[in-house]
Amino acid sequence: MPNTAAVNLYDLSLPALTELLAAWGQPAFRARQVWEWLYRHFVADTAAMTNLPAALRQRLAAETTLPIGEIVLRQDSRDGQTTKVLFRLPDGQFIETVLMAYEKRRTLCISTQAGCAMGCVFCATGQMGFMRHLTVGEIVGQVMFFARQLAARGEHVTNIVMMGMGEPLHNYEATMAALDTVMDHRGLAIGPRFITLSTVGVVPGIRRLTAERRPVRLAVSLHGATDEERARLVPPARRWPLGELMAACRDYTTTLGRRIFFEWTLIDGQNDGPAQAHALGRLLAGMDAHVNLIPLNPTLGYDGRPTAGAAARAFQAVLAEYGLPSTVRQRRGIDVAAGCGQLAAAR
Ligand code: SAH
Ligand code: SF4
Repeated sequence: MPNTAAVNLYDLSLPALTELLAAWGQPAFRARQVWEWLYRHFVADTAAMTNLPAALRQRLAAETTLPIGEIVLRQDSRDGQTTKVLFRLPDGQFIETVLMAYEKRRTLCISTQAGCAMGCVFCATGQMGFMRHLTVGEIVGQVMFFARQLAARGEHVTNIVMMGMGEPLHNYEATMAALDTVMDHRGLAIGPRFITLSTVGVVPGIRRLTAERRPVRLAVSLHGATDEERARLVPPARRWPLGELMAACRDYTTTLGRRIFFEWTLIDGQNDGPAQAHALGRLLAGMDAHVNLIPLNPTLGYDGRPTAGAAARAFQAVLAEYGLPSTVRQRRGIDVAAGCGQLAAAR
């Protein structure tokens, strides 16, 4: 019988873990030892924490868990560079996590919600609707699943992108707590420069992460450079119009002195013409910005086509006239539906 009252250790910050163990009469250094077993040695079982007193190990075994979700399906792309895992959570919800192994990088694309409430028309997650927020432990657990797998072959997670299922700034607290855990220098120690949070443009969330000086890189999904064009693809554009969104983005770059990334899904005949490229150029001119262009990936609920290479290059050339650097994101993992916006976990 699983112990449902048990504490998920992946839910806890180091101070919270210290507090829990203090309540059990343990000195602070014990919490630090447990933390290192979790995030330096990736143990899957508290019994393996061999430098702890036996009584403490027994209590941890009885009252805590280290769940990573039940693995329902694992798919590897034909080129072997992308792995997608489908997890079933204890309440029956499904989420997907993707590992991309390109050259020396080991990038994890993690989910922050089961489903998504934002309803972007071309996104498989948006098409399925919102189920629920993930807990801190469920977000950290995705990282730990792959951290363990990589460690077994002498590798480690180098980058994290919060671009899986869900809108991270709609689940702000849990997302930030999970990031604090994976960035902690006594544990996984993934540097903030190697973590990118992508948002559909939740203005209060952008304002808050700016005020809190969250160190991660920020990417904002635009897809349209006027409110009308954007709202056709991204319904939240009605709630947070471009005027407000761009003001929040400018504050972010000037307050924190950081570059900001913008994402633009290129859809043939929809938002990929020279007029749209000029509108985007005018919107971003003068900002310390980089544009990531993502040729549309296929999803069941939307029948648009991706922009072809030549048109994508023409779009980039227009952006360059405004001094805006851009890259066209490589399409990978499409054969296992692990590309941007393809995570749906529909079973
Ligand atoms: N909710 C966040 C992060 C997840 S999606 C956000 O929307 O930013 C990561 C990126 O993939 C976003 O820019 C999103 O708009 C884009 N995307 C969604 N569906 C896509 C699709 N079918 N093809 C290409 N990109 C897509
Ligand atoms: Fe949600 Fe992002 Fe998909 Fe939009 S693109 S539905 S915000 S996951």
